Amino acid sequence: MLLRTKINLKQLSKDEICRLIGDEGLPGYRAEQLIHWMYKRHVSGIDDITEFSKDLRRHLKKIAFISNLKLAERLRSSDGTEKFLFSFEDGQTIESVLIRDDGRLTLCISSQVGCAMGCLFCLTARCGLIRNLKSYEIVDQIIAVNRILENEAPDPLSGKGEGKPPSAKGITNIVFMGMGEPLSNFDEVVEALWRITGLIGISKRKITLSTAGIVPKILLLPRKAPDINLAISLNATTDGVRNEIMPVNRRYPIRSIIAACRKYPLQPGRRLTFEYVLIGGKNDSADDANRLVSLLKGIRCKINLIPFNPHHGSDLKGPPDYRVLEFQKILSSRHLRAFIRESRGRDILAACGQLRARASREKASAGYITK
Ligand code: SAH
Repeated sequence: MLLRTKINLKQLSKDEICRLIGDEGLPGYRAEQLIHWMYKRHVSGIDDITEFSKDLRRHLKKIAFISNLKLAERLRSSDGTEKFLFSFEDGQTIESVLIRDDGRLTLCISSQVGCAMGCLFCLTARCGLIRNLKSYEIVDQIIAVNRILENEAPDPLSGKGEGKPPSAKGITNIVFMGMGEPLSNFDEVVEALWRITGLIGISKRKITLSTAGIVPKILLLPRKAPDINLAISLNATTDGVRNEIMPVNRRYPIRSIIAACRKYPLQPGRRLTFEYVLIGGKNDSADDANRLVSLLKGIRCKINLIPFNPHHGSDLKGPPDYRVLEFQKILSSRHLRAFIRESRGRDILAACGQLRARASREKASAGYITK
């Protein structure tokens, strides 16, 4: 007899779930129910789908299961930011960061284990690319955090959560700014985007994909996943400096990125985001600010100025506060919308890759093999 391996229901697209339900001789609405319980009720196993009879659950369990990310570590910052370290069956780990502000719950998710971009300021770059995440592993970060939030007692001080449905305190916004370069894992990220919008139900307007600037994929994205917000990690205004701090610039120089941005279709009222990590003495001069104004002329955008968050993996320095303010002033005086993004969750190693790096160091010193 041939042993049939069980199907991981989270791996399946919507169409594949419908097909499986049909193949099992079950009515079509069971597929909708299954999707609802996995993506909106965040069940961790088939047994938890209480809308299904015991017989139906037994039937499904014979052929399928629901996988779950394992929470390896959770840290809460004094500013309310939380960082989750999740592990997979192959022992690899990724980070997701939950940011709370103005009634929004934004989850910053990872798209790869490690990253191949090699940016000088980024700690994730230090471990190189280990592997791409599958679309369900990308989406599961949202499901896992939503489940954690749901199981938490309502905050007695805020009075929020009481008497409200579970979704009332769920994640509202998604940013692809965790570990990895999302456009280098294009197909899985596009499928994840479809599941986040279509199955979890987060609107495209509330999803931002951040890229180091993979030009052909920036051009392709609007056709494959239209109306997602796009953020570009620009971080420099000359190819000389950008080549040095972001090696990907040798392949796709600044002018090619800006040209691709000018072609990115924007819905009325929407803007591109340019991220600019300010590094002391490297890219934080008044000349840089003026060059940035010229580069972005005519592009509907906003700029997030992020003071470099120093870490053990880099000799680069954060900018002095007065430089950050001066940089912003120059942009604002030329009618660009520039916001200073203070580094959230510094006390919990919230910058890209920091928690994973620490966990790996600790493992290494405990005698485990880390890679
Ligand atoms: N690869 C994608 C997404 C991951 S990086 C990208 O390049 O956009 C997400 C953001 O974190 C980028 O804007 C990056 O410039 C910023 N970043 C990385 N390390 C940082 C650090 N040490 N301090 C401040 N910002 C950092």
